[in-house]
Amino acid sequence: MFKFFTFNKVQPAPIPGESKEPGPEYSYCETATAAATTPWHIRELTEAGKKLGGGADTPALCGRKVSWDLNTVVRDLNYEFVCKECRKRLLDSIK
Ligand SMILES: [Zn+2]
Repeated sequence: MFKFFTFNKVQPAPIPGESKEPGPEYSYCETATAAATTPWHIRELTEAGKKLGGGADTPALCGRKVSWDLNTVVRDLNYEFVCKECRKRLLDSIK
């Protein structure tokens, strides 16, 4: 007889050498007061990863306190709705 186990959902471990872009990971995020017209901010992720439900553990690059991450990969920085200061700082940091 098979025995059924239940597993807790775990974050997949990063595979060494797989990342094409070494260095810190960034995430789009929003402030607690975000509305439809509020720009997205960008923050550096820690090992804790994305906080989609709130509790972001680093401030945005522009210094604003942010609350939660967006499940969108930071790739195209030409979005109109990304905070200009965050975008500038990210571009400066990857030059
Ligand atoms: Zn910002």
